[in-house]
Amino acid sequence: MNQVNPGPEPTKEPAKQDGVVDISDAGSVLQPNFQARSKQRPGQHPPRQQKRRHRGHGSPAGAVANTQKPNRPERRDRRNYRHASPAKAKVQPLKGTIVSRGHGQKLRIIPLGGSGETGDKNMLVFEYDRDILVVDAGVKFPTPDMPGIDYVVCDTTYLEENRDRIRAFLITHGHEDHIGGMPYIWPKFPVPIYTAPLTAGFIKAKFEEHGITNAEFRIIKSGEKIQIGAFSIEPVQMTHSIPDILGLAITSPAGLVFHATDWKVDFTPAFGKPTDFDKLAELSRRGVLCMLTDSTGVLVPGHTLSEQVVSKSLEDIFVEAKGRLIVSSFSSRIDRLQHVASACAKVGRRLFLAGRSMERNANIAIDLGYLKVPQGVLGDIRTVNSLPDSKIVVMCTGSQGEEGSALTRMSTGEHRHIRIKQGDTVVLSSSTVPGNERAVEQSINNLYRCGAEVVTKSELDIHSSGHGSREEIKHILNIVKPKYLIPIHGDYRRFVEMRKLAVTLDIKEENVLIIENGQIAEFDLQGKGTISDEKVQVGSVLIDGLGVGDVGEIVLRDRQTMAADGVFLIILTVDGRKGTLLTSPDIISRGFVYMKESEDLISETRAAVKRSHAAHISRTKAQTNWELFKKELRDDIGQFLFDKTQRRPMVIPVVIQV
Ligand SMILES: [Zn+2]
Ligand SMILES: [Zn+2]
Repeated sequence: MNQVNPGPEPTKEPAKQDGVVDISDAGSVLQPNFQARSKQRPGQHPPRQQKRRHRGHGSPAGAVANTQKPNRPERRDRRNYRHASPAKAKVQPLKGTIVSRGHGQKLRIIPLGGSGETGDKNMLVFEYDRDILVVDAGVKFPTPDMPGIDYVVCDTTYLEENRDRIRAFLITHGHEDHIGGMPYIWPKFPVPIYTAPLTAGFIKAKFEEHGITNAEFRIIKSGEKIQIGAFSIEPVQMTHSIPDILGLAITSPAGLVFHATDWKVDFTPAFGKPTDFDKLAELSRRGVLCMLTDSTGVLVPGHTLSEQVVSKSLEDIFVEAKGRLIVSSFSSRIDRLQHVASACAKVGRRLFLAGRSMERNANIAIDLGYLKVPQGVLGDIRTVNSLPDSKIVVMCTGSQGEEGSALTRMSTGEHRHIRIKQGDTVVLSSSTVPGNERAVEQSINNLYRCGAEVVTKSELDIHSSGHGSREEIKHILNIVKPKYLIPIHGDYRRFVEMRKLAVTLDIKEENVLIIENGQIAEFDLQGKGTISDEKVQVGSVLIDGLGVGDVGEIVLRDRQTMAADGVFLIILTVDGRKGTLLTSPDIISRGFVYMKESEDLISETRAAVKRSHAAHISRTKAQTNWELFKKELRDDIGQFLFDKTQRRPMVIPVVIQV
């Protein structure tokens, strides 16, 4: 499996790989005499070496015919960015030797994802002696430097090396950053999955889509106690933006550890009971050795809004709006869906759901009784246009400006049933995830162009974070009073801020253990906690379509090269014995220059190919080594094209011997 590790080692020269180029539909072959329509096996170019050689070698760009005068400073900037290694954040290397197995009578807590990064793929390992529990298995969405990648999940090498000790998956709640990796990771470790009913429903739906039918779910509820190996586990009712969020009190011979991810304090939540403060107080009396806690909101002062306030604001908008109402949120925000459904019932509007994930999650939540939609409120989206505008509410995905989401399609006229128009009110009921700002701006502009009224979080209290702010964190830490604290679910900055906050609450500074992905917090039987000198392998596994982990760093780098400067294919038909060229070289290019307007450049390149070929033949006599020749040709033509254009397309030579 190819993995991309954010480790400190310098990038290795990629191993030589055989690529397969299907030239049958590659486009304009300039020479009509080209007959080959079969798959050829060219060698793959070594992009790094080639780039290094070209850097700074350009002839004055203005003197080059057939190419536009490049804007040099900007171009240099862009190149510097592009040379950053893909999927490798430049972070301080973590110290420590990588170990593949835990040992001894110690409790070890190891984040495999979600610690020290944003947009996390949360996954955490608890291990004691011969038992391992895995808490959550989330996904992360790809960054713009990962073209074509759908999702990113955790590297599970450590779990693979310890599979005999894995006893269970414990899943805290149904958000993607906690369950999205399950269809890719669980089949490798088919142990029982302990979780609450709604979360189980969401995971089952994912498993069905992936054809996974053999999973064993064990439903757990607040107030119960379960024994798994050396661990005794008590689920604790918390509040978050989705029902069935569980804190986990995990007792091992080293002591009691309280794991609490993704929580806020809401005394009037959208559903069910508020946080079980009695249980937290009971844990505190028993003595909490260590608490692992959500750091997302540590930079936000004050308290988060209660969902009741959000509900009231939404109702006000519902009363005022004259035309259709389109409410956009995350599909997993079942709480928001509940408010909208209740508001619909109050003002006599019909609710329609748009977007596959929105419909799927709503149906699961309705079936399990978490979402209560009054009789007659929910309508079929296919019949939406039979009602007057003043009776319509549409709840859809797309609050992050995602391409292909229901809201985006509605604003570009691609949605089957709804097209945004004058008189519509669009409510974006979620905050923008860092990194999505531009997409959201663009989406809002599109909605304005369609004539819609747009209401965002900044105008009204229509969104509340699912993660507690500073005062809530203080509140909970004051009740639980842990001896040690491990911040989770956040980046390094938030972890340090969490430590500062904890110190004001009389937690010793040295007892706040800041560990990032792969680092190990250890607790001995005397309850002493330390950060180990050892660490485990962590990283990202990229998912592209059906492929899990088959897109590694080399493929990703090739995609970046092609996306930046295109592909340049040179096809030579040679006499197999003498090595002579039988026809003039064929050239196919995509994304590099517009070939019809660059015939001079192409014919100059063709001449350069012939020169390179002739030089090689005369040097090696008849003993031509075609692999070596292709490498030389790749370098020569790469250099030639760079001198002419200041661009570095991916050059792929193909030699056909007849
Ligand atoms: Zn989360
Ligand atoms: Zn969450």
